[in-house]
Amino acid sequence: MAMNELERQLHYPLGDTLPEAGRTLDMAPGVRWVRMGLPFALDHINLWLLRDRIAGREGWTIVDCGITNADTQRHWEQVFRDELDGLPVLRIIVTHMHPDHIGLADWLVDRWSAPGHPCRLWMSAADYTGARLASQSTTGFGGAAAAAFMASHGLTDPDAIEKIKARANYYASMVPKVPDSYHRLRDSQTFDAGDHTWHCIAGHGHAPEHMSLYCETLGVLISGDMLLPRISTNVSVTDMEPEANPLRLYLASIDRYRALPSDTLVLPSHGRPFRGMHTRIDQLHRHHDERLADVMAACRETPQTAASLLKVLFKRPLDLHQTTFAMGESIAHLHALWLDGHLQRTMGDDGVLRFAPS
Ligand SMILES: [Zn+2]
Repeated sequence: MAMNELERQLHYPLGDTLPEAGRTLDMAPGVRWVRMGLPFALDHINLWLLRDRIAGREGWTIVDCGITNADTQRHWEQVFRDELDGLPVLRIIVTHMHPDHIGLADWLVDRWSAPGHPCRLWMSAADYTGARLASQSTTGFGGAAAAAFMASHGLTDPDAIEKIKARANYYASMVPKVPDSYHRLRDSQTFDAGDHTWHCIAGHGHAPEHMSLYCETLGVLISGDMLLPRISTNVSVTDMEPEANPLRLYLASIDRYRALPSDTLVLPSHGRPFRGMHTRIDQLHRHHDERLADVMAACRETPQTAASLLKVLFKRPLDLHQTTFAMGESIAHLHALWLDGHLQRTMGDDGVLRFAPS
């Protein structure tokens, strides 16, 4: 796997080794890695198994689920048959509400609940609520409201706007149902999985209330999407919260991981398990500082819209899926500068928001 310059500063303990579809790799005592495909440019997600014991029953906890499709279900069945040492799944933990993480939660809960022994979904309240709403309506990445919001930020290509409008059931197509009940995870709370205690660390800016899980005795952080080794976490403003400042929230959230030991093994949702968390946090700060400087420089030349900044921020062609995320990111960078007081925002006669130095 070709590494970029920044990745070379990190350590990948398993090198290029990946778990095959339907198989697992041991990452730490009682912690196994599962990898599932995704039908996007980001083509995979990492899921985790924790050896567990609940109410005297031996089994496993699953952390994150994959999206709802036949391939993912088939690969889960393979894992259940071959990789669980003959034991059942006892609990489902979901780091946050995005479709690749919560998609199959309802199927897994149904698949593994037994009379008197519910296989319960555990996640944060904000993301559980958000997921239930989103599976029944639009989410900021599709539908008429999202299209109008993108247009107000300068995305005027009629084809793209039509496609965004048409994507109203985007979330529900990957998350047809969210379980009717759950167990709430809160920031700083601890829980036991088998012989180990895990700490919940809430993070913001990527999802409403993302939960990362840290086990001190194992020296392992399940970082979810908050800390990824190769790509930067998506940080977006959407139509649901049009004045949000997610970039500042995100950067403050990842700084909380600085309190963990530098040799912590990080298990990310995308990319490979790595060590070098503190280096990665520094890289991400630098990455966003550079993007903010680029945005500021472009706005000094001439007032910018989120759409006109796409070519400044993303130096590669984007498909529609990537364009909606990229628009969200572009607005997030503008908002960080706007809400810090460096930029001012004006609505033109054309109904488009433009940002210029204040
Ligand atoms: Zn996510």
